[in-house]
Amino acid sequence: MNRDSSIQEIKGIGAKTEELFHKLGVYTVGDILLHYPRTYVRYPNVKRANEVTEGETAAVFGRVLKTPVVHRAGRMPVTVTNIGEEDVTVELVWFRMPYIKNNLKPGSTYIFYGKVQKKNGRFVIEQPAIYSKEQYATMEDVFLPVYALTGGISNHQITKTVRAVISDDSLFRDHLPSEFRDRYQLCEYNYAIKQIHFPDSMDTLITARKRLVFDEFFLFILNMQYHREKRVQEENGFEFQDDSFTEELISQLPYELTGAQRRALADIKRDMRGPYVMQRLIQGDVGSGKTILAFLAMADTAHNGYQSAIMAPTEVLARQHYETYTRLCEQFGLKIPVVLLTGSMTARQKRMSYEALELYPNAMVVGTHALIQEKALYDNLALVITDEQHRFGVRQRETFAEKGSHPHILVMSATPIPRTLAIIIYGDLDISVVDEVPAKRLPIKNCVVNTGYRPKAYEFIEQEIRQGHQAYIICPLVEETENLDLENVTDYVKKMRGIFPEEFELGVLHGQMKPEMKNRVMNAFLENRVQVLVSTTVVEVGVNVPNATVMMIENAERFGLAQLHQLRGRVGRGDAQSYCIMINASQSKTAQKRLDILNQSNDGFHIASEDLKLRGPGDFFGIRQSGELQFALGDIYQDASVLQEASEAVKELLASDPELAEEEHRNLRDYVEHHMKNPEKQMNL
Ligand code: ADP
Ligand code: MG
Repeated sequence: MNRDSSIQEIKGIGAKTEELFHKLGVYTVGDILLHYPRTYVRYPNVKRANEVTEGETAAVFGRVLKTPVVHRAGRMPVTVTNIGEEDVTVELVWFRMPYIKNNLKPGSTYIFYGKVQKKNGRFVIEQPAIYSKEQYATMEDVFLPVYALTGGISNHQITKTVRAVISDDSLFRDHLPSEFRDRYQLCEYNYAIKQIHFPDSMDTLITARKRLVFDEFFLFILNMQYHREKRVQEENGFEFQDDSFTEELISQLPYELTGAQRRALADIKRDMRGPYVMQRLIQGDVGSGKTILAFLAMADTAHNGYQSAIMAPTEVLARQHYETYTRLCEQFGLKIPVVLLTGSMTARQKRMSYEALELYPNAMVVGTHALIQEKALYDNLALVITDEQHRFGVRQRETFAEKGSHPHILVMSATPIPRTLAIIIYGDLDISVVDEVPAKRLPIKNCVVNTGYRPKAYEFIEQEIRQGHQAYIICPLVEETENLDLENVTDYVKKMRGIFPEEFELGVLHGQMKPEMKNRVMNAFLENRVQVLVSTTVVEVGVNVPNATVMMIENAERFGLAQLHQLRGRVGRGDAQSYCIMINASQSKTAQKRLDILNQSNDGFHIASEDLKLRGPGDFFGIRQSGELQFALGDIYQDASVLQEASEAVKELLASDPELAEEEHRNLRDYVEHHMKNPEKQMNL
């Protein structure tokens, strides 16, 4: 068995289990080792009854003095017994488990594990697990991995499988040059893999994690830089005139562009007239006005006789851009055809769009990511923009190149990362930062409140709507879920019907709706035919309804700060004063502290860095911040220093061996070459 062997070769895995593992993206022995635990449980040291405190999950040692009694609450059998001394006892309660009585022998000692509550002045553990002293000793103080699961596979099964593979011991060759391991104090790879699954201690876990995070960043950057080094700059095959076309459009706008917008636009225009094709990232906080820049660049392209395309991550956003672009063309009196292309369109609609593309060499295409890559619309395409999307990678550029086309590329991102990190992560792109928000705009007023404040919030929303404005209410879930006590849009909107006046129209929006329905709801909201939109986070990216002035977020404690910041960015986009009401349904002090950061600042960069300080580098199972840049373990904010180190290491490596030709680097070269062909699949080394 080696790392490339099928998981079927592992003892105990048959065809059926294999299929289930495939659902988790696990095909080979190597894959399962890269299926890192989501978190760990750790059984606490054993306590005596007089040592427990309220709220903790404890393992309590105790002698059962009498046979437990079983009484009934209605039809439910309830088994009760006590452990401890005369004055300090812990009551143990089991529901619907009358047989427990027979398992506990009077006079014997056990360890009872569960959450300690206080009821009527007494400590109670409900449904405690029961262990013998010997049983518990094998679990005590050990980190047990908790894995992401899929239906049909248990945590136990994954644990067992990983353990079987790890004990085989013929794992991986360490692919990292040893000088880097020494310099950055990184542990050996096989050790790291073992420790990430079954840590001996918190220290070894931290050590292992650092090594694996380093690897993620190192390989990511290496992959990007290796191909960048190899790629000769593509020549700019398009002719753009130097004229005042965009200036004339700008002079017709109802507002002044900010200085930052002007600078970014100048960068774009210069690039498109330069010797090589543009590869530029426009980074700007929510509401900094990136859409108009995209429009101007595309209008410039059309003016010069070429087609351009903008790709949005969601249907909702694509449709919205389409509306915006059509309106802008009308306002400016431009005769540029705007063509929509999205997955939810009927075959006939799509055909009409493709016909339009053939007919109009200067069309502006607005669509979702997938569609634009699919068909041959590359003939006259001179500019491709991705909005609010994952980095537009090497791979996509390759797709264009394969079709014989090298368009200018513009990536627009609202992810607030410091410039130093941006340079590392977007190392293959030039960067313009839009670090100014339009001056006239009033800062959003924020508050973080508990659920008791809801009636007031609803009253406030009603007032705003009476003044002609609109509101969003965000819930984390689509519908009720058994074991999660969180708000869901389905029930919430029903509740709201009884609260808001009948003449208010309420809308519901969530990701499980058909695209057509989503569009209908979103349009109704855009045209103020719906006043309150109860939605999941699908509105998070990019949506622009400047008339909306209230953003109310339920279970705000459940969202990452960056995500909350994005959500809040849906308001404060027009001239009117806007408000963000964050409902914190938890009692947790940390949650309150985190939300306070948002309460006090509207600046994305500031929020990201404060959040990092608060969490500290030890807290690595917190909420992920970087929605856009996902790594299996690494977090670009929290692990910023590791990212920096990995970047240095890559630079040094490629300086000394740009082709990765040396024998010692052969597996690294295999990695980047393989990655090129299969960018979706993680590859083991
Ligand atoms: P984002 O950068 O988040 O994509 P948008 O491009 O959607 O932001 O712009 C948000 C709102 O600000 C839009 O309604 C847009 O018309 C408006 N806007 C853009 N630039 C300016 C400006 N310079 N002055 C005033 N309003 C602006
Ligand atoms: Mg936007």
